[in-house]
Amino acid sequence: MHVDIVPVGEVSARVKREASSALRSVYDCDVTIGDGQSIPTGAYDSGRSQYSAESFIQLAERVGRGDKNIAITPQDIFYRRRNYVFGLAYLDGSGSVVSTYRLQTSSDGGFSNKSASDIVDDRIRKEVVHEIGHTYGLEHCNNNRCVMNFSRTVQKVDIKEENLCGSCQRRLG
Ligand SMILES: [Zn+2]
Ligand SMILES: [Zn+2]
Repeated sequence: MHVDIVPVGEVSARVKREASSALRSVYDCDVTIGDGQSIPTGAYDSGRSQYSAESFIQLAERVGRGDKNIAITPQDIFYRRRNYVFGLAYLDGSGSVVSTYRLQTSSDGGFSNKSASDIVDDRIRKEVVHEIGHTYGLEHCNNNRCVMNFSRTVQKVDIKEENLCGSCQRRLG
């Protein structure tokens, strides 16, 4: 199993490193990092001042060389009527996306004494693992410590762990 990371826009080496290390550690897969891509034409919605998450998924599907491909971008992305999303993937699809934009928010759950940058790194790791989980057919999990738990806020991201719970792990097969 091979996951290709597709950086879109200005993605730091640190973000790429965290994403690939999280994917390797949770899925025990091969991870490659593709060439940087520019933001897809037509992705920007000037009414919302945000970018369509789906256009990043399509780009990842098109240029990614993995069985699964994940676009990572610093741009603020939206999906349908939600104000924002941290990421998006289709169940069993080959493409997915994570945005670091909303994960930078400084407020954490108030239960950790980690540095702000470590907290942001952890969030990126979890959201990347989460979206790739969807591409492997995993749906949202009710266990709020499981990485497949749906997180609407960064506080919810901070509560969950980077790993799949036992039942998601078994579903992954
Ligand atoms: Zn999800
Ligand atoms: Zn789970």
